[in-house]
Amino acid sequence: MGHKKVCLSCRESFNLDPSDMPVQAYPCAKCGKWMCVLPHQFRPPRKTDEKGWKLVEFLVNNGFPFQHIEPKETSNHSRVKFIPYPSNLRDAKVFIEKHKDKAINK
Ligand SMILES: [Zn+2]
Repeated sequence: MGHKKVCLSCRESFNLDPSDMPVQAYPCAKCGKWMCVLPHQFRPPRKTDEKGWKLVEFLVNNGFPFQHIEPKETSNHSRVKFIPYPSNLRDAKVFIEKHKDKAINK
């Protein structure tokens, strides 16, 4: 259940020591910009994965820093506890529109 600190500019992620919490702001050692603190379910794309990082940036900037989104109604058939995050930009736009009430506004 760790967190990761992620620099969207350098496209790097580091595991966060639990003792560092709950500090929310870390400057990047390389570029000095503020890093995002993302939960453990965030899987960083490969450094060369341009589209993957664009997607991460898009989600974070729109209030979805990979928090858990619970389905609105739980049906008996559904074992889905959390709605999965989109894997491309087109799905991400639909996702953000659909769950905008869950967006975290900074
Ligand atoms: Zn950086």
